[in-house]
Amino acid sequence: MLTNDQLAKWDRDHFMHPTTHLAQHARGEAAGRIIKTGEGCWITDRDGNRLLDAFAGLYCVNIGYGRQEVAEAIADQARELAYYHAYVGHGTEASITLSHMVMDRAPDHMSKVYFGLGGSDANETNIKLVWYYNNILGRPQKKKIISRWRAYHGSGLMSGSLTGLALFHQKFDLPFDTVRHTTSPYYYRRADVTQTEEQFSAQCAADLEELIAKEGADTIAAFIAEPMLGTGGIVPPPKGYWEAITPILEKHDILLIADEVVTGFGRLGSMFGSPHYGLKPDIMTIAKGLTSAYAPMSGSIVSNKVWAVLEQGTDENGPFGHGWTYSAHPIGAAAGIANLKLVDSLNLVQNAGEVGPYLTRTMADALGEHAHVGEVRGEGMLTAVELVKNRDTREGFAPADKIVPQIVGAMARRGVIARAMPQGDILGYAPPLCLSRGEADTVVTATAEAIAEVLG
Ligand code: PLP
Repeated sequence: MLTNDQLAKWDRDHFMHPTTHLAQHARGEAAGRIIKTGEGCWITDRDGNRLLDAFAGLYCVNIGYGRQEVAEAIADQARELAYYHAYVGHGTEASITLSHMVMDRAPDHMSKVYFGLGGSDANETNIKLVWYYNNILGRPQKKKIISRWRAYHGSGLMSGSLTGLALFHQKFDLPFDTVRHTTSPYYYRRADVTQTEEQFSAQCAADLEELIAKEGADTIAAFIAEPMLGTGGIVPPPKGYWEAITPILEKHDILLIADEVVTGFGRLGSMFGSPHYGLKPDIMTIAKGLTSAYAPMSGSIVSNKVWAVLEQGTDENGPFGHGWTYSAHPIGAAAGIANLKLVDSLNLVQNAGEVGPYLTRTMADALGEHAHVGEVRGEGMLTAVELVKNRDTREGFAPADKIVPQIVGAMARRGVIARAMPQGDILGYAPPLCLSRGEADTVVTATAEAIAEVLG
């Protein structure tokens, strides 16, 4: 067997990692970890450390690690037929069955699913769908997309443009000019502290109206949003937010793309985030929970309204010129089928709706009064702890102090993985949906001890 030292050397010499300080990694200055096995909510690294993964990888291993049913389904599919493409109407039993299972779970007004590989490429597809849609409807100028600051929609060229986080734009010449960002529905960070949640939601809606008026409604094709902000800080929408936003989109004939990459398949304690917040999207993005990351797979779900125009488009123009070699890959589809069956049989949506709020509540009880905890928030199996230097002014720490990475490191030494969210002093939690209450307690204890170690 390879030694850890040999692997670490190859890693530094040859492996360019995503979202990583490349120079520090190559010089061996940044802590990495080589993961070996996983079971339930727990992973074990090659040094023999067992850690409770309270971020489910990248909020994707929803069913937990080590599920043999999914491994068997993948192996069976690979033995029977590892690959066939989906172009020109081809399919496999697995890909057709998964499309049926997805649409069975999607809201009633949705029509079909197009399968991709990950959340970023699904959002690239979505923007092409929206542009195609408006070209077929004879309004070629209606092409701009409105996203929100602090959104995360991926890191491709268009999906990275839709993302509203500086790290994913700077030095990449993004965002593209066709994308505009509007106010983030982040109540804790509102400019006017006297506003109630409802007033702040009204402000977000007024800002959106103003942006649409400035750009011209006839130039805006779609509004893209995560039903609840994820990577931008794990922030539930303030009261009245969606009720204020959706009528504006309807009034200006702007399509709604709900990016359900994190919220899809149970994370909020409901099958999808859109019905959870009363949204009726025109397009939905799915990934992560579709296969619980046992294989790469994503999807773009289109509504009846969008589908009707796609039909018209191909009748008028011939085949739809969009596809990836690995669209609807049978191994991903087999993983998806086995995964969704487990989500049902293990009652994971219900568990997320019960243990998730327990985790947030217990965290708030343990930390809510701490001098450096500004806010504990969450929804379903998503929790965040926002740290501040000063509770009264909400002033943050200097980025160079790396307070949250230090806390995450102190937690890892106690056997629990949380995520330092990329922008702001925010600890993020998105455990597998099978988390138990006992495991939630372990996460809270490790957090409290780590915060005490770093901040007193
Ligand atoms: N959309 C959302 C809401 C996400 O959280 C993510 C990834 O975290 C993506 C899209 C991008 O997905 P991927 O990393 O699979 O490309």
